[in-house]
Amino acid sequence: MSNSFLKSPQPINEPVKSYGSNTPERAAIKATYDALYSEKIHIAMKIGGAEVNSSETNTMHPPHDHKHSMGTYSLASEQHVEQAIAAALEARTTWAAMPFAARAAVFLKAADLISGPYRYKINAATMIAQSKTAHQAEIDAACEFIDFLRFNVSFAEKIYQDQPVSSSGVWNHVHYRPLEGFIYAVSPFNFTAIAGNLCAAPALMGNTIVWKPSDHQMFSAKIIMDVFEEAGLPKGVINMINGDPEMVTNTVLKNPDFAGIHFTGSTSIFKNIWQKIGNNINLYKTYPRIVGETGGKDYIVAHNTANVEEVATAIVRGAFEFQGQKCSATSRVYLPKSTSKAILDRIVSDINTITLGSPRDLTNFMTAVIHKGAFDRLAAAIDQAKKDSDVEVLVGGTYDDSKGYFIEPTVLVTTNPNYDTMERELFGPIVTVYIYEDEQWSETLKLVDATSEYALTGAILAKDRLVIEEARLALENSAGNFYINDKPSGAVVGQQPFGGARASGTNDKAGSSQNLLRWVSPQLVKETLDPPTDYRYPYMEA
Ligand code: NAD
Repeated sequence: MSNSFLKSPQPINEPVKSYGSNTPERAAIKATYDALYSEKIHIAMKIGGAEVNSSETNTMHPPHDHKHSMGTYSLASEQHVEQAIAAALEARTTWAAMPFAARAAVFLKAADLISGPYRYKINAATMIAQSKTAHQAEIDAACEFIDFLRFNVSFAEKIYQDQPVSSSGVWNHVHYRPLEGFIYAVSPFNFTAIAGNLCAAPALMGNTIVWKPSDHQMFSAKIIMDVFEEAGLPKGVINMINGDPEMVTNTVLKNPDFAGIHFTGSTSIFKNIWQKIGNNINLYKTYPRIVGETGGKDYIVAHNTANVEEVATAIVRGAFEFQGQKCSATSRVYLPKSTSKAILDRIVSDINTITLGSPRDLTNFMTAVIHKGAFDRLAAAIDQAKKDSDVEVLVGGTYDDSKGYFIEPTVLVTTNPNYDTMERELFGPIVTVYIYEDEQWSETLKLVDATSEYALTGAILAKDRLVIEEARLALENSAGNFYINDKPSGAVVGQQPFGGARASGTNDKAGSSQNLLRWVSPQLVKETLDPPTDYRYPYMEA
């Protein structure tokens, strides 16, 4: 037993490998991708540390080659969900009582495993499951995940150190208890790092987890569980199950020990879950913590003092990297009339150089969208735009799902600032541009603020400092992450804590101490060192 106050290692952001030609990482990722691609695996549920199978399974297919099978995964019944909850509650006793340094060591080790022996495996699995390019997989599955794990240890340490003052004769202390019950983590398909962090952040604070990954991330979800297991995570701390999301969620939400949800995904599903929690409120032993990061309709607004190439590059990268499937992807753009032609010409010429295909071919900038539902949604939006008189397809507008779910990078230009695709989250490689009169700058800022229900990310590009300040104030509530002269995506843990407000989420900033604070319930202890022995106060003297 150690009585020392341990100091955790100072975190630094994981360096991003380039995957340039002739680098060792390029050869390694190709070899690992090929090895994984030629295997067929079965993924069991993980309940109380045991592999649990069921007779019901789903198949897994890479989005860029949907006829290819990667294998199967087991689907949970209601009983499995209940077993996972029981396993989490059982593990909580010892996990919550463990010294923080012991819990932190598990996640620091997980970070080092991903940085080292698991790097290419988790990246290649992400390339296959979610159709990410090597670069997009590297900045997500390796670097962001590692950063979440390392930085959160350091943030947690500062939380535990935060103690109240004590006056003479008194010692006050705060105990940051894990929540009483279990945490339900529900993750989206688009970031392996987010999936890992939705489980790891509450677990670091002493909670135990029932995790339901996305059906479209199972192949990389398994690697997350392998890493946690190899890092020494005790059985039952994180239990992974999949199955009908409605059934799994309903089963979890009717359990009296449900203590909180850590969700990332679409707005409508989060609102639906919140409503169910409200309806069940009398069932619970404690008010559940509700943390959800949800959809976005992220904007770039350019002023006529902005550099044309900088605006065009921000749009092309912001809208089309990972096929526009980042919650922070640029999806609506406001350009001043005077420079709009030059900017759009540059975008069109850039897009003409973009190639789509398998992530195995590292020359591709874009690959496929995640599944048939996404493909159909995006194809329908393009078809509708071709029919509508207030919008034109400037470039792109074609799609093909014969081998994979490929949608060409598409730019729509509309004369209607409230056109459907200026307001609705499409989550794909389609960006809509509205051209405003230069002298309507201030009115345009009001339009940007009022157009969408979301408030996740946004960017202003301008040289003139007065207009930058005007935009910052006018758009204060329109984005949780606001960018000046940059694209509105690419947040780095420890540098740009991430999250949005309005319909974009509870803005609890993943990768920050604000998020970790949601997973503790502080208990204040006041200890009186020399307790009084007479009930009378001095003012009562005769
Ligand atoms: P999704 O909402 O379809 O799925 C998210 C999770 O919810 C999955 O695990 C899914 O199985 C589960 N789910 C589906 N139906 C459910 C139901 N009825 N009850 C309970 N759970 C259910 O989202 P997705 O397509 O995986 O991810 C894309 C969405 O996530 C976009 O809206 C995007 O903006 C958002 N997102 C937001 C952030 C952020 O930080 N704000 C980050 C990543 C993704």
